[in-house]
Amino acid sequence: MNVLVINAGSSSLKYQLLDVDTGEVFAKGNCERIGIDGSFIGHQERGGEKERLVVDLPDHKTAVKHVFEIIDGLGLPVDGIGHRVVQGGWYFPESAVVDDEVLAKVREVAPLAPLHNYAEADVVEICRELYPSLGNVIVPDTAFHYNMPERAWRYALPRDVVDSLHIRKYGAHGTSHRFIWRAVQEFTDGACHKLVSCHLGSGASLCAVEDGHSVETTMGLTPLDGLIMGTRCGTLDPATVFYLQREGGYTVDEVDTMMNKQSGLLALSGISSDSRDIEEAAAKGDEKAEVALDMFAYRSAQLILEMAEAMEGFDTIAFSAGIGENSDDARARICAKLGWMGVRIDDAKNAVRSDEVREISAADSAIRVLVVPTNEELMIALDVQEKLA
Ligand code: ADP
Repeated sequence: MNVLVINAGSSSLKYQLLDVDTGEVFAKGNCERIGIDGSFIGHQERGGEKERLVVDLPDHKTAVKHVFEIIDGLGLPVDGIGHRVVQGGWYFPESAVVDDEVLAKVREVAPLAPLHNYAEADVVEICRELYPSLGNVIVPDTAFHYNMPERAWRYALPRDVVDSLHIRKYGAHGTSHRFIWRAVQEFTDGACHKLVSCHLGSGASLCAVEDGHSVETTMGLTPLDGLIMGTRCGTLDPATVFYLQREGGYTVDEVDTMMNKQSGLLALSGISSDSRDIEEAAAKGDEKAEVALDMFAYRSAQLILEMAEAMEGFDTIAFSAGIGENSDDARARICAKLGWMGVRIDDAKNAVRSDEVREISAADSAIRVLVVPTNEELMIALDVQEKLA
């Protein structure tokens, strides 16, 4: 079955056509700067050269039309469309086949993720209108965390407030954590029961996965919570928000921008939000860069133990996403902080670069440590196959 996976943002639209049964990716790309001057499509076929197609993309509808033109040109059938949805809110414990009601719900919960959900709902609607014979499935990033125990998702705020405003821990990266669990199961032949899944990219979150179920995660009502990220501050005293407003004179929007776009590794290092640049600077002796990397690892190790408490123990840690898959330095720093409890990695194994799932723990490690390249698109396509069957 060939599935077109679409990941729409407010000004971008990523796409990938893949065969669910073999995992083969026929084509993928990104429509960038939609509605902004200088729009283009970066397109790649079967792992070949990346092409840059300069096209006018005034809106998402035009972008979807271009994507289908490109896909038609491949001469391959498309059997269904999977849409990544950032926020499923209080409606979706799993992926869902799109109908009018589903689409209305995606819009209803959009105030929780306004930059993403509205664009995603629009794109689903456009696909239904332009290609009515194809089934559409939405895959919410929050769905995996929907059934966490109440002690994990509930906030200790007044009940009438949290109930009327639907405030709870929704989490994110659920599709990735679900894929990571699946890959770990395959790799360990089902030996893993209590996994701490570490999705460490420019956005980063951890998930406690017990026998396939998310029981705790580090992101909260929004993806701002938890770990230190590229430009997001992660957890801090909530009173900081009103202190910044009362004493600092910042507006709500300025605090929002500061915490989401000007904080995290970028603020700590004063160099970049990209950990490659920070690692390079730290290697040359830059002290702020060193502090940034140390704090990232410290917070990660702390929260790994928070995930462990949710499961009363853990047997496996899996590192994934941009930093988790590629940075041996970040993995080594995090695991060194857990050394007191017997986590040990094999430095030679940690240094290996590969696209495969691999184990990097030392033979005497108390916990197995794996590196798992995530594949959210394949997970989305698998859901499409299941839901449209
Ligand atoms: P997202 O999908 O959240 O934008 P990714 O999972 O692609 O993020 O991760 C991007 C981040 O991964 C980059 O910002 C960079 O910090 C990090 N990264 C990628 N490659 C390396 C590397 N070789 N060493 C260290 N960090 C890396």
